[in-house]
Amino acid sequence: MNEQKKQNQKATLVITYNSVRNYPTGTYKTNHGPLVVYSHENTKTWGDRQAEGKLSQIMHGIFGRINPADVDKIYLYAGLYAKNGALQATKKFAGEGNKVTLVACDCDSDEKEAFARYIGAKLIWSECGGVETLGRIVSQELAK
Ligand SMILES: [Zn+2]
Repeated sequence: MNEQKKQNQKATLVITYNSVRNYPTGTYKTNHGPLVVYSHENTKTWGDRQAEGKLSQIMHGIFGRINPADVDKIYLYAGLYAKNGALQATKKFAGEGNKVTLVACDCDSDEKEAFARYIGAKLIWSECGGVETLGRIVSQELAK
């Protein structure tokens, strides 16, 4: 692959206020550009306020550092807690023309399904917390 093509490679973001099985926060190299995991290594389930605050912290850091034009795909976990923050963040990224996939547990599934349709995002159902499903998604992206 030539240098020019390398420079044009866009990033894949995996965003969750929980953790991702086997893949701590960091940047991973794939054949189609960097894959960046934004997560939090929590050992207990977040309460509503904590989760919301944690996610807005993560999203704030991303918006400050990453140009949406450099992003190709985004996988965002939307759980029961921090649901509104996660959905708003998804909407913002989707508005920038990025391919967003909502990874969601089926708590309040009707609402999440409607929102995914509304912003034109794909939806992958996961267990509560999304830790295993996100781990599988990252494995698949790294293998592509
Ligand atoms: Zn759930």
